Amino acid sequence: MIWNEEFETLPREALESLQLKRLKATVDRVYATVPFYKKKFDEAGLKPSHIKSLKDMRLLPFTVKTDLRDNYPFGLFSVPMESVVRVHASSGTTGKPIVVGYTRRDIDTWAELMARTLTAAGIHKGDIVHNSYGYGLFTGGLGAHYGAERIGASVIPISGGNTKRQIMIMKDFGPTAITCTPSYALHLADVARDMGIDPAKDFKIRVGCFGAEPWSEKMREQIEKIFNIDAVDIFGLTEVIGPGVSSECIEAKRGLHVFEDHFIPEIIDPETGEPLPYGEKGELVFTSITKEAFPVIRYRTRDISCLNPELCICGRTFVRMERITGRTDDMLIIRGVNVFPSQIESALMQIEGLEPHYQLIVDRKNNLDTIEVQVEVNERIFSDEVKQLEVIEKRVVHDIKEMFGVSCKCTLVEPKTIQRSEGKAKRVIDKRQL
Ligand code: AMP
Ligand code: ZN
Repeated sequence: MIWNEEFETLPREALESLQLKRLKATVDRVYATVPFYKKKFDEAGLKPSHIKSLKDMRLLPFTVKTDLRDNYPFGLFSVPMESVVRVHASSGTTGKPIVVGYTRRDIDTWAELMARTLTAAGIHKGDIVHNSYGYGLFTGGLGAHYGAERIGASVIPISGGNTKRQIMIMKDFGPTAITCTPSYALHLADVARDMGIDPAKDFKIRVGCFGAEPWSEKMREQIEKIFNIDAVDIFGLTEVIGPGVSSECIEAKRGLHVFEDHFIPEIIDPETGEPLPYGEKGELVFTSITKEAFPVIRYRTRDISCLNPELCICGRTFVRMERITGRTDDMLIIRGVNVFPSQIESALMQIEGLEPHYQLIVDRKNNLDTIEVQVEVNERIFSDEVKQLEVIEKRVVHDIKEMFGVSCKCTLVEPKTIQRSEGKAKRVIDKRQL
């Protein structure tokens, strides 16, 4: 099923002319209203009028996460604050989040895109959608919520957490669709089984839309089997709009259609910044072409994928991106939260008595992500009382919780026990098997 036949099946030529028209309008808009973009364009000797074809995209400067941080919180908004009806945020590379805004029309666009996403998964009016994406500054909860309402489904806005209660509700309310992170789906299944409930038989769920973190074909098979459902991959990021940037169709389940009438995708070589042809793997870059409050020009996602232009059996003409296979930076997603090891490092370095030698051990136990921080203490602290060590451990756990909202375990180790490396230090040991 297709939510918006008119746009989702546009022939390439018509789509490209629409994209060009919208791109030009976006470029005009950011040049006129966002000092950051004007400065960047001026430095590059670029005028909006230089963009005459889609090929000219490559003339546009890239935008990166630190640009968002440097303009914290509202510096990249392209409308006055009084036109912004919503803000969302996601963790950035420092303690401060990156902040995005939406006008009323942006919220409307987003609901449309999420309506397309859910429809592509076969969800429709009459379905009951159990939405376990977190509600709040994170885009997942409200994004899926508005999309489900737009198609006329009944939404259970359960948000994340309180798993046993979620299972009771899933059994009693009989949702036919679920939206959450893939790891949370597996955790729900574990807890359900502990409660004597069989997710394949005792729930009415038919389909799930899973995303917001990396997962694999193997995990898809597991989820589909455990719940006896179809599991589709959905993708998005706060900077671009939230979920609803691309999504799989249930007919093919092979790659995520990018909503190209709203976002122009590119794959670039992360080293040189050169655009790569279809089929080649590289860093995903998006330009938004319909957003009002927070347009992004050539935003470098750091996510690794490739684009496939082959026509799909579902009838959509939009290119498909391969499921995300990695990142060009060290960002980890722990229980749905973006965690940058560099941030943990700076938190550790502010604590008296700790050495700059640490390791993060990431694992998944009972389908829940865990993180352990192992860090060396200096000789003086090490020979001090045990009590002193406990104080430091508590402080590490507290500071990291404060920074990301994620609980970790801290283990202080003797000086010179963490393995030294001759090249790049291996700071993260990720034992999660996706
Ligand atoms: P956030 O802005 O906090 O929602 O985080 C966005 C990031 O989550 C993306 O840049 C990806 O790294 C990751 N992400 C979102 N959806 C998926 C997905 N379906 N598969 C893999 N990674 C995803
Ligand atoms: Zn398709």
